[in-house]
Amino acid sequence: MPALPEEFYILMKWSEELSKLKVRANADTPKDARVAREFGAVGIGLCRTEHMFFDPERIKAFREMILSDSIEQRRKALEKIKPYQKEDFIGIFKEMKGLPVTIRLLDPPLHEFLPKTEEEIEVLSKEMGVSTKKIKAKIKALEEFNPMLGHRGCRLGITYPEIYEMQVRAIMEAACELAKKKIKVIPEIMIPLVAHVNELKMMKDLTVRTAEDVMKQYKVKIDYKVGTMIELARAAITADQIAQEAEFFSFGTNDLTQSVYGLSRDDAGKFLPFYIEHKLIEEDPFISIDTEGVGQIMEIAVKKGRKTNKNLKLGICGEHGGDPKSIEFCHKIGLDYVSCSPYRVPIAKLAAAHAKLKTEGAELVRSTV
Ligand code: PEP
Ligand code: MG
Repeated sequence: MPALPEEFYILMKWSEELSKLKVRANADTPKDARVAREFGAVGIGLCRTEHMFFDPERIKAFREMILSDSIEQRRKALEKIKPYQKEDFIGIFKEMKGLPVTIRLLDPPLHEFLPKTEEEIEVLSKEMGVSTKKIKAKIKALEEFNPMLGHRGCRLGITYPEIYEMQVRAIMEAACELAKKKIKVIPEIMIPLVAHVNELKMMKDLTVRTAEDVMKQYKVKIDYKVGTMIELARAAITADQIAQEAEFFSFGTNDLTQSVYGLSRDDAGKFLPFYIEHKLIEEDPFISIDTEGVGQIMEIAVKKGRKTNKNLKLGICGEHGGDPKSIEFCHKIGLDYVSCSPYRVPIAKLAAAHAKLKTEGAELVRSTV
């Protein structure tokens, strides 16, 4: 990235000093992490891990995992992926050294990783020595009418704990190896699509058990956190229970908007412009937080979450985290940070400072005279 003018850094520094909200970035490669840091992100608020599995070196092993019938076979296939996962995290942790990195465990439904066309199935069948019949049967078995409301997020980790176990091992092994080289790593492990506290409890137990085991093996202590995304209305409304098992919440407002509106985030574009044109709604709720609906649910979650866990850290990592209007709302309801695309970090920092000036500007001026 070309060097930015000195004024940019001064402006970012002033914004940061003034803001209450911290700004992190959504990044899942070392390159994005570097850009985010260069722009002044003070951590990664969302590292999605799904894209990593499409890498040519590991998609085959992951498909082998999906097509396996026993947990032992699935573990063996996942073992082949773990070294790559570890390298992913080492790369990101190194870029973000000294800053928190929130890594989300696998979220999308498994069928997304299987081939779609006859041709692709044919190729996979030859590559793996598995009959096309078996592959097609698996595709059929994993088919869902509403995959975005189906077998994904922590539901995946609950039914295939070996996937999350491999990911937590890779995260903690990466952290321990760097810690041994005196590189400070602050991993935050995030469980997606939780609706009920029992889901979080089960996945947290798995995470803690695995993390402790790795630290024992390396004889290293890592300061890691376990938290969850708040993406479903039920999670927000029962946030007091969920907060007892979480060290942080990150609002996944893409899915939260979908779940509060009962409106598919992938199809909304087909009719929302008509709604906006005819003033049925003011603006696209997938761009700016709908403060009367989704926003109120977020506020409930903030209040209830903090009631049972005073130290709960609160952030947002949906697309709204880079939208100035939404950032102002996040400031008002008392979040600790927003997380957005690396290239939106400067805008988000300015918006965070602006939000503080707008709400507390008069007092700030009075206190300096
Ligand atoms: C979200 O739902 O807001 C989120 C950040 O997760 P994803 O977009 O990956 O579903
Ligand atoms: Mg989501």
